[in-house]
Amino acid sequence: MEFLSKKAKNISPSLTLAITAKANALKASGKDVISFTVGEPDFVTPQFIVDAAAAAMKNGHTKYTAVPGILPLRQAISANLKAKHGLDYAASQIVVSNGAKHSIYNVLLALIDSGDEVIIVSPYWLSYPEMVSLCGGIPKIITTTKDNNYKVTASELKQAISKKTKAIIFNNPSNPSGIVYTKNELMALAKVLEDASIFILSDEIYDELVYTNEPPFSLASFSEKLRDKTIIINGVSKAYAMTGWRIGYTASNSALASAMDNIQSQTTSNANSIAQHASIAALTPSSNADNFLKNLKETFCKRKNLLCSLLDKMPTLPYIKPNGAFYVMLNVSQFFGKTLHGKNIKTATDFSELLVEKALVVTIPCEAFGAEEFIRLSYAVSEKDIAEGVKRIAEFILF
Ligand code: PLP
Repeated sequence: MEFLSKKAKNISPSLTLAITAKANALKASGKDVISFTVGEPDFVTPQFIVDAAAAAMKNGHTKYTAVPGILPLRQAISANLKAKHGLDYAASQIVVSNGAKHSIYNVLLALIDSGDEVIIVSPYWLSYPEMVSLCGGIPKIITTTKDNNYKVTASELKQAISKKTKAIIFNNPSNPSGIVYTKNELMALAKVLEDASIFILSDEIYDELVYTNEPPFSLASFSEKLRDKTIIINGVSKAYAMTGWRIGYTASNSALASAMDNIQSQTTSNANSIAQHASIAALTPSSNADNFLKNLKETFCKRKNLLCSLLDKMPTLPYIKPNGAFYVMLNVSQFFGKTLHGKNIKTATDFSELLVEKALVVTIPCEAFGAEEFIRLSYAVSEKDIAEGVKRIAEFILF
């Protein structure tokens, strides 16, 4: 189509959203499908948050708000960061946007000029390279390996930073791998980053879903110097089952916050006013919020343990041991070049497509995550579906 811009022509549609839609369509047609594609908690938004939204509507909070968000919400975010990481951010350093995805895009628009390089660690969330390219930047991928459990090392990071590097996008816990860096590992990376003249987009959207005993650690809390160059990205989508409400935020230095405020003022204006009020309820400390987070985390941890224990019985499908988020990546590369159910498997997509066709199990092939040997399973599904889904996968590969 000639009339489309180069930007529009070059962008790939979100594979995860497309496959999820396909799984939903199969279900709707009455097929007994097990879908491991979901990128959101299978919980409804808790009632106390819904009540806060209803109250906001009743009280007439239905108008434009300040572009970077209403003050009480920015204050609640600021208090949340203080409680979690001991970090002091003024409300003016917080910008609330339409989901963390929008926050990341705002940061990139504020930082990236044409030709700037942005480091992305693979396996990565598939939207990162697309967003960098949309902003005129060049994604520079660091490919992690099994030897370091698919985590980037300080020396790999050091090597990847060049004069052209403007920023790194760092996601912990990781979508798609579910890996979580230890504090010591983060400290080693922080030392490299502290000396580099680059910005750090620290995507912490899954930080409430960590199943180790270590308290959360943000790269921003390493030192004042690093904090000034780090943009914390978070939101209410995953932790409070609020994906549809579209509230994300950044915490950054003041100059960047005001640049993003300007960008947002000329593009989307404020995030939804009612959702902002609901998010105050989510982020203000309360027993309701505590109980919800505790239950969410325990439920996901139990499912992770179940899924891993079942996968442990299938040595032909090695997987990356997850400690956070709600994803597991399975290595299907030993089937490449082999025939399964009469079909030659060459790629993770071939494997994944055949799995849907023959076993009605839907997974996400990870080529678009920069990990072509893997498929991703989300355990934002019931324990019953986990057990049935893994049973079908086992039968599928033993055939
Ligand atoms: N960052 C990562 C790593 C994600 O997986 C997602 C959502 O899937 C987001 C950001 C975006 O979250 P939001 O729904 O707040 O836009």
